[in-house]
Amino acid sequence: MERGPAVRAPLYLQPRLEPPLSSLLEAASFLHSLADALGSPLNVLLPDRIVENAAGFRGVYREHHLTGRVYFAHKANQAHSLVRRLTATDPAAVGIDVASLGELRHALECGFTADRIMATGPKDREFLWLAARTGACVNIDSPAELEQLAGLIRAYDLPRADVLLRLTEFEASASAASGARVLFRRSRFGSPVREVDRLLDAVDRHRDAVRLTGVAYHLDTTGVAEKAVALESCITVMDECRARGMDPRVIDIGGGFGVGYVADAGQWEHYTTELAEAVLGTRPALTWRGHGYGLRNEGGTLRGAQALYPAHRPTAGPGYLDELLAHTAPVSGRPLGTLLLEHLYDLVCEPGRALVDQCGLTLARVLDVRRAGADSDDVLVRLGMNAGDVSLEEHGVLVDPVLLPRPGAQQDADGGPVGVYLAGNLCLEADLITRRKVFLPRMPHPGDLMAFANTAGYAMDFHAHHAQRQPVARTVAVTGEGDTWRWCLDEEYWPITRGGPVS
Ligand SMILES: *Cc1c(COP(=O)(O)O)cnc(C)c1O
Repeated sequence: MERGPAVRAPLYLQPRLEPPLSSLLEAASFLHSLADALGSPLNVLLPDRIVENAAGFRGVYREHHLTGRVYFAHKANQAHSLVRRLTATDPAAVGIDVASLGELRHALECGFTADRIMATGPKDREFLWLAARTGACVNIDSPAELEQLAGLIRAYDLPRADVLLRLTEFEASASAASGARVLFRRSRFGSPVREVDRLLDAVDRHRDAVRLTGVAYHLDTTGVAEKAVALESCITVMDECRARGMDPRVIDIGGGFGVGYVADAGQWEHYTTELAEAVLGTRPALTWRGHGYGLRNEGGTLRGAQALYPAHRPTAGPGYLDELLAHTAPVSGRPLGTLLLEHLYDLVCEPGRALVDQCGLTLARVLDVRRAGADSDDVLVRLGMNAGDVSLEEHGVLVDPVLLPRPGAQQDADGGPVGVYLAGNLCLEADLITRRKVFLPRMPHPGDLMAFANTAGYAMDFHAHHAQRQPVARTVAVTGEGDTWRWCLDEEYWPITRGGPVS
């Protein structure tokens, strides 16, 4: 198709790619043959990379001389291969955090022994029962849940359960030396830290049924200051527990270490600046029908707040953990890692998104390319997937897909950068894969593939559905590198080779 009026300089948000994901994306004919055989959309996982990521977190523990496990927050991805690959790592180093009865059953079935499993989130009776029955650690979400667990253990003669108390509503001390205001967001999960005494009374009362092994928090924020307050508060609560004669050892700092999706800081800054200009109308539109990603134009003034994931991040994943441990505690003024070390507390973290960083991609076939309307210059590219199959937008993650032309297909002679909107395969106006104009190095053609890189964290199966009987993505696991890629269906993957040991 013809190109529209000359686009301004393209505003790319190129993905951050590391091996083996970067070399997998170069294997275009391999990816095309997978999609030809297994359909569109298709999730492709790199289970070996999750082990490297876990090792990255463990490396930070080692630098700070800390002991304790890294638990994978299963909710980020439901695939078998990632969980099975993790079971084959050092049991003392890596565990799994499950947030539903189904995830607990899956972890057990994949080979995790219960001593490596942490049950988090609000739980129903069956989930609590199976956790206690098998001997998983229960991260207690509320006082009522503690009562319910103790009741089940007595009623069904279950073994005494290890419990952590998840705390919330931490408050920055007025005497904090920095004087910086730390804002806390409310959470529906956990028990308010100011009511911890009552919770400890309950633990005491139920000591025949439960054994307190520590305290926990999980804050869905990128703010290190906020997490520093929470971590130091947890250390204080641990001291209180010891004063009561309890012997807790573990502080669980949850997840939220983040992922850098966009490689280049300059591209990210430029894009977000231009997005604000577009909302104000001082440059051509960058989004579908005035969508503002949280921003709006009120009489020439920019209002609202950009509801975007910080897609370029100077520190993320293990680097973010390192930053937190090096951060000075707001009250004591000493590094948090040092405080943990001096108390000989085990550190537990539960990365979800960060542990599956670079662990896979999602492929979609280009179905057709057309103008958005008779009076519109906008180009719509319809893909063989819907917004539920790649929920980057849902999570506010803006990053470009990688165009993989069909091998052997004719290339455009005049091909140059274009800005397009990506639409899904549902008969629903709202089914857009991107509500922003995505800039590509050339116009896509039917038969090309679009590869969404780094989708293993929440973007593959968290929102997938069967609307209109469109297929949900199949998932495959691939191993190897260069031109020796091997693949199998996700459900067929086990961390062993059929003919001999894993290389
Ligand atoms: C979701 C969740 C995590 C993982 O969060 P990420 O942002 O993916 O790292 C960890 N712990 C708990 C309790 C959670 O609910």
